[in-house]
Amino acid sequence: MARTKSILTEARQIERAVTLIHLGARLQVLESETDLSYERLLRLYKEVAGRSPSKGQLPFSTDWFMTWQPNIHASLFLNIHEYLNKVSELDEIDTVIKAYQLYLEQTRTQALEPLLSVTRAWRLVKFVDNGMLTLTKCSCCGGHFVTHPHEIAKHYVCGMCNPPARAGKGRASGSLRIPAAAAPAAAAGAH
Ligand SMILES: [Zn+2]
Repeated sequence: MARTKSILTEARQIERAVTLIHLGARLQVLESETDLSYERLLRLYKEVAGRSPSKGQLPFSTDWFMTWQPNIHASLFLNIHEYLNKVSELDEIDTVIKAYQLYLEQTRTQALEPLLSVTRAWRLVKFVDNGMLTLTKCSCCGGHFVTHPHEIAKHYVCGMCNPPARAGKGRASGSLRIPAAAAPAAAAGAH
């Protein structure tokens, strides 16, 4: 019964969709998170973004979240998301939007390139809801990081405490740097 849908509800859905488009979300995210028809979303997307949405499949695998730099970005986002989830009464998708906006703010203040797209952030929350990914506490620094659910917390060491050998050596601006003091200690296993 399409007629029972209130104008206010629809207005809120359009507003959400516009926010998501501005953040760079893929069309599939909008389709999944609003009741607006595909045709209307497509028109809205073109109007807001000024171009057609990119085609192709959404990322399905959890692998990306496990690589070094993306894992740290994903962990930052998910920590913000979990916090908002606890302290606010927002709808699920609004929590993702708000958490993603705060994640962008964080990367901006740290002069980091935001590696995590809003589509991946949304996907990450779905993976967590499905029990495919979770947050595990690092046994070294106590921070919470994105891992597979079977990770043994007692032995888990995060990518910041135990970065890969080449990590932080790159001079590319916007990439993560490991503090000079931390890297050699971790490499030598001096704990
Ligand atoms: Zn750690």
